[in-house]
Amino acid sequence: MKMRLELFLLIAAVSCAAGKPLSKAAGRNKLLLISFDGFRWDYDQDVDTPNLDQLVTDGVKAKYVTPPMLTMTSPSHFTTITGRWVEDHEVVHNMMYNAKTNQKVPHKQTLSRSEWWDNGVLPLWITAQNQGLKTASFYYPGGGANYSGQAVNRALVETFDHVDDNETEWRQNIDMVMSWFSEEDFHLVTLYYGEPDNVGHAKGPDTPDRKKIIQQIDRIIGYLREAINRHKLTDSLNVILTSDHGMTTVKKRPQVDEIILNKYLNLLKLASFEILDYGGFGILTPRPGKEQEVFDALSNAPNLTVYKKNELPESFRLAKSERLPPIVVVADLGFNLNSRFIVYVNKGDHGYHNGEMDMKTIFRAFGPDFKKNFLSEPFDSIHVYPLMCKLLQIEPAPHNGSLTVTENLLLHSGGSQRARLSVALLLSVLSFMFTAL
Ligand SMILES: [Zn+2]
Repeated sequence: MKMRLELFLLIAAVSCAAGKPLSKAAGRNKLLLISFDGFRWDYDQDVDTPNLDQLVTDGVKAKYVTPPMLTMTSPSHFTTITGRWVEDHEVVHNMMYNAKTNQKVPHKQTLSRSEWWDNGVLPLWITAQNQGLKTASFYYPGGGANYSGQAVNRALVETFDHVDDNETEWRQNIDMVMSWFSEEDFHLVTLYYGEPDNVGHAKGPDTPDRKKIIQQIDRIIGYLREAINRHKLTDSLNVILTSDHGMTTVKKRPQVDEIILNKYLNLLKLASFEILDYGGFGILTPRPGKEQEVFDALSNAPNLTVYKKNELPESFRLAKSERLPPIVVVADLGFNLNSRFIVYVNKGDHGYHNGEMDMKTIFRAFGPDFKKNFLSEPFDSIHVYPLMCKLLQIEPAPHNGSLTVTENLLLHSGGSQRARLSVALLLSVLSFMFTAL
């Protein structure tokens, strides 16, 4: 009888531990996702960043995060907010294009074009709204589109002439978002900043200008924390700080022989559509019957790798895309894919293989549900989505991420791991008891 009681108590303990919810079982905490475009994983290591350093003590830091293959702003941001690979969400470039009509729409103009973003995959805003939450997007890529006819509750979209580095505006945007949380009861806001990407492109990642913008970002983190306190959100707001990709220094003459693709194939004769001169990632549609010729010609070109779409490595998670044209070109780190002439002026760029350390990006998080002083091993950005759903206590839409990768960042990550430990404990106690019998 005594043994049965012990057994009962143990089983009760196991089920309690396994089912323990996040903090504040009744009320769910709010979530702010901030993205600083093009924040390479190591940008805080050669600059004095007291506020970012404080986040490490007060929250969670991942050593770095790996973006999806297609290390570009729109594709990567959309993977974070959907938890889907690029081949599934089909936002396969910053530019909206149609390879059949040769239509090309520049990045900023795509931001409100639902036909580019809405391909049957629901981003977090919409999934959360469908479960009764109130959400907003402040300049976050994809936030300005409609999904199956639904708009984000509140969406601000960057204008074409928006200035990226205005610190006064950065603070105003923080204030606005804080009031959305504290006065209008929004549950989820995604906030986007166009730096340090802009400076990384214009000046290069290894310049004093880049260090200066990182210090500006550090000041805005300090301002954010002060604003969270001022709005009395410290105990109810979780914050995730991340980015879409890194940045690398562009290799130029005379240091290297720059790539000019037209030297290896007659682009006009062999291709009916192309997006080149756009950093390390290029796409081509060969004219009918010319696919092998294009592939062979580019296979001989140095400092790049050419792929037929259907032979793309599985790990790229791009091959299933219907939108991608039949030929994909990835330049070696630092090379630009110039088409005919060198008109390209960037000193830094991205779009390279996501295995390159220069393409890795940052992850920091703090708030009531996050551990403190916790350094996480690196993970793929695709796993941020299930973490956000867990924080918001909503049922995720189908996705390619895994909560097991990121739930150890949470204070009460508990569930599965705690249950496993308790079951192990139960089994050892049982075996002890039976041995004693
Ligand atoms: Zn960029």
